[in-house]
Amino acid sequence: MLDEKVLVTRSSMPPYEEYIEAIRPLWDSHWLTNMGKYHRELEKQLCDYLDVPELSLMVNGHMALELVIQSFGFPEGAEVITTPFTFISTTHAIVRNRLQPVFCDVRAEDGTMDETKIEELITERTVAIVPVHVYGNIGNIEKIEEIAYNYDLKVIYDAAHAFGVKYKGKGIGNYGDASVFSFHATKVFHTIEGGAVASSDHELYQRLYNLKNFGIRGEELVVSVGANAKMNEFSAIMGLCNLNHIAEDIEGRRKLWSKYRERLSEIPGIDFFADNPDAEKNYAYFPILLREEYPAGRDGLYQALQEEGVYARKYFYPIAPDQKCYRKKYGRAEVPVARELADRVLILPFYAEMGQEIQDRILDVIERR
Ligand SMILES: *Cc1c(COP(=O)(O)O)cnc(C)c1O
Repeated sequence: MLDEKVLVTRSSMPPYEEYIEAIRPLWDSHWLTNMGKYHRELEKQLCDYLDVPELSLMVNGHMALELVIQSFGFPEGAEVITTPFTFISTTHAIVRNRLQPVFCDVRAEDGTMDETKIEELITERTVAIVPVHVYGNIGNIEKIEEIAYNYDLKVIYDAAHAFGVKYKGKGIGNYGDASVFSFHATKVFHTIEGGAVASSDHELYQRLYNLKNFGIRGEELVVSVGANAKMNEFSAIMGLCNLNHIAEDIEGRRKLWSKYRERLSEIPGIDFFADNPDAEKNYAYFPILLREEYPAGRDGLYQALQEEGVYARKYFYPIAPDQKCYRKKYGRAEVPVARELADRVLILPFYAEMGQEIQDRILDVIERR
C-alpha cells in the first residue's frame, strides 16, 4: 500500500512564488476579467505554442465547444455525426444546442472516429462532424475532411486531449473548421478551468466574441444574444505560468511513458493504442487495453490497483450513448468497437511529478496479476 492515494492525474502547479509574483499587478490594476491584459497575453503566447493564427480563450472547454457549435447556426434538430468514445461533454455540447447526435463507431487501433463508417450515416439533415482526438490520437483526418467537403459539412474537432500535438508538422488546431481545447486542471496544460477555440476563419472569432461576452459591442450596444464564457485574469496568469514549464512537464511525461511501455510490453494480454508516425505526441494519458490473456481482466486490475491505493480510471466507460441520459433518449447505438474498447481500457496514473518509485509500485501490481 502506498502512503498516499495515487490518482489518475495530478494538476501541475507552477512554483508558488512565481504565481504570487505574477498576480501581484492585479492588486494595482483591479482589472480581474473582461479580456484584460493577461487574457490577451495568454492568447498571444498560445497562438505561438499551438502554432495557430488566432485563438479565442473561454471559461472552459465545454463552453468553448457549445459556443463554437452554436456559432454555425445549424437548424434545430439537424444531425451531427460524432464519436461515442469520448468524455460526455462532447455529446452534451451537441444535444444542448438542440441538435441530434449520430454515433459513428471508432477504429480499434486508436479509438478515433472510423472514417469508413461516416458516409453511411449521412442524411439530408446532417450538418457537421464532431470527431475527438481521443488521448491525443489523431485519426484519419484527411479522409474525414474529404467527406465533409464532398457533402458540405462542417468539421469541429474536440481537441481537448490534443494540446500541443502537431500533425504533419502543423499545430493540430489548424485542421477542420474549428478545434476546441480544454485547459481544465486535469489536462496537460491548464488554467485551473479554461478552454479555447482555434480556427483559420477570422469571421468565426467575431461570432465567438459576441457569444462569450453577451453580444456587447459598445457601452450602449448589444448586437446579438450571447452568453458569458470569458476567461478571467487569475486563470490567464495561471496559464502563463504553466506555459513557462510545459516543456519540462512534457519531457517528464515522456520518460514515464517510455518506462511504462517498456515494462508493460513484456506482459501478455496488454495492448496499446497505435502510434501515428505523422503526429508529434503530447503524452497526455497512458491508456492500456486488457485482453483475455491478462488473468485479472480489466476490472480485476482496476480493483487490485485500488487495494494498493492506486486509482486508475476507465475512460471512457460506459460510452456516451450507453449513459442513462442518452440510452433512454436514443436507444442502443450500433457501435460495437467503441463498446469493446470501453470494456478493455484502463487509464494508468500519469503525470510528470509522479516519479519512478510510484510508477514502479504500479508496475509491480500489474505484473503480479
Ligand atoms: C475535458 C474534456 C472536455 C471538456 O473540457 P472542460 O474544460 O472540462 O469543460 C471536452 N471533451 C473532452 C474529450 C475532454 O476530455
